[in-house]
Amino acid sequence: MAKMEFQAESKRILEMMINSIYTHREVFLRELISNASDAIDKIYYKALTDDMLSFDKDSYYIKVKANQENRTLTITDTGIGMTKEELENNLGIIAKSGSLAFKRENELKDGFDIIGQFGVGFYAAFMVADVVTVISKPLGSEEAYKWESEGADGYTIEPTTKDSVGTDIILKIKENTEDENYDEYLEESRLRSIIKKYSDFIRYPIKMDITSSRPKQDKEDEFEDYTEEQTINSMVPIWRKNKSELTDEDYEKFYSEKRYGFDKPLKHIHISVDGTIRYQAILYIPEKMPFDYYSKEYEKGLELYANGILIMNKCADLLPDYFSFVKGIVDSEDLSLNISREMLQHDRQLKLIAKNINKKIKSELQNLLKNEREKYELFYQAFGRQLKYGVYSDFGANKDVLQDLLMFYSSTEKKLVTLDEYVSRMPEDQKFIYYASGETNARIEKLPQTELVADKGYEILYFTDEIDEFAIRMLMNYKEKEFKSVSSGDLGIEEDENKGSSETEEKENKELFATMKDILSDKIKDVRVSKRLKTHPVCLSTDGEVTIEMEKVLNMMPDNQNIKADKVLEINTHHEVFQSLKDAYENDKEKLRLFTNLLYNQALLIEGLPIQDPVEFTNDICKMMK
Ligand code: ADP
Ligand code: MG
Repeated sequence: MAKMEFQAESKRILEMMINSIYTHREVFLRELISNASDAIDKIYYKALTDDMLSFDKDSYYIKVKANQENRTLTITDTGIGMTKEELENNLGIIAKSGSLAFKRENELKDGFDIIGQFGVGFYAAFMVADVVTVISKPLGSEEAYKWESEGADGYTIEPTTKDSVGTDIILKIKENTEDENYDEYLEESRLRSIIKKYSDFIRYPIKMDITSSRPKQDKEDEFEDYTEEQTINSMVPIWRKNKSELTDEDYEKFYSEKRYGFDKPLKHIHISVDGTIRYQAILYIPEKMPFDYYSKEYEKGLELYANGILIMNKCADLLPDYFSFVKGIVDSEDLSLNISREMLQHDRQLKLIAKNINKKIKSELQNLLKNEREKYELFYQAFGRQLKYGVYSDFGANKDVLQDLLMFYSSTEKKLVTLDEYVSRMPEDQKFIYYASGETNARIEKLPQTELVADKGYEILYFTDEIDEFAIRMLMNYKEKEFKSVSSGDLGIEEDENKGSSETEEKENKELFATMKDILSDKIKDVRVSKRLKTHPVCLSTDGEVTIEMEKVLNMMPDNQNIKADKVLEINTHHEVFQSLKDAYENDKEKLRLFTNLLYNQALLIEGLPIQDPVEFTNDICKMMK
């Protein structure tokens, strides 16, 4: 019998595919099972349009059977089968998908979509088999044919006999090599787990003969093996079910079955879209941050299915980084199955789905904020930081999406508030949105710099995350109100009564301040009369873009460029300590040096900055005590 050659380009594609398209060999089974499922879909479709045929769901199934002695794995289906021509055309030419042609000819409408549209899936069989034999009997014919191939060389085709309509695909599994174990594809438990993993939601039963052991009837301590046909897949996926059929418990059960997290999800989102692109999704917002969330082990992404068949465990392209905490699955009829990671990135459908999902998550979070504030705050405690990173990254490209989801602790409300709430409360004379940075709310509360703003009755937002100030810099303003640090040089507050007086004081004490600046040399940029201090003797403020909190963060970075804030030492001239400074300046220069250093170091401590020389600082205190 003459051997038919594969078409030239088919040969090349075949070799390329065997070696590269699929990262995991085990997906060959997914491909063959989905072809079988397609074939049953086709007969189902024919039955719907042809009065002569009836579709009895129970007689349609897929069967997977391994024979270890012969090293064969057989995938049987009761689908539509293939004619001789179809065997030649569909299996002989790669990238000419029979399913696609069928779809065109029959103008399939919604609900009758067929997974394979790409036309290379079948060849995945050669990743694990030396010889592939296809025995098929098509619907409406008495003739059956046997197609056989050993890979790139070509194939043979000859008449054969087969009892029932459908197709058997018989793989002669390769011998083990030094690096590769092929035996596993003949093992019951391994096959079963591959089916569960990739094909759990195929609409037709996938059967296997499962061997188990049981105690013998008369002798309880002796066991015997018995074989029983079992359906391996669970068939109807939860995301295909109607929302009204499902309870919160169902969603929670699915969340834990899928091991999305050990917590209970805070919120689930069940999406079913039936427009230009069709997909279903179940998404979850977890309650707790996964322990590895900020480690490099954490991988964002959603499970991706093409019409019930798993394509990818973590499809990262479906989620923006700022929503990387979202878990769940997406299933679309409009995606082709045989698609590699690289190709997926450019897939138009996938991009549409991603965009859609992104919008949906955002609006769900907004609803949560509006209607279930407590839950939102729980969420925000776990993942608020991620949203702030989102505002900051990509040069602020996503700030509009995210700014209304941000919350900060408020000095007046004593709880988390949104920017919108802050702005809506601002008195008319308040020009800026004020914030103060520090390690904890308790520490910020005691910062001397907050005194004037707080005295004015203005609300202050407390920034305790490293990212906060950077994110706010990227926002620049909210509802046309600019952000302002309480430590910045100019607070934008009219000092009604003592504006004039601080200027004269500045002049009067010019020389004292100049001497103090000399003592501190390059540690600070300037010494000034403070307009913001009320009860504290001293504090640090900054001129320019970089604040003290930003300096701290930047200096923690691995590529630390030693960026410094322009620090200003502010002196409260109404504090009794100021009198001592003046006395020292007139009478005892050594004492002035001592006091200046002490005040500077105090200011550092209040800011949470390290003191350069702690020993000298304690010596200074001792000197003063003597
Ligand atoms: P695709 O599934 O993307 O079309 P494949 O390489 O997986 O590409 O399969 C090629 C074609 O072979 C299918 O489109 C289908 O026409 C035919 N085919 C494969 N397996 C079967 C089967 N079990 N029953 C009927 N036809 C099949
Ligand atoms: Mg296919």
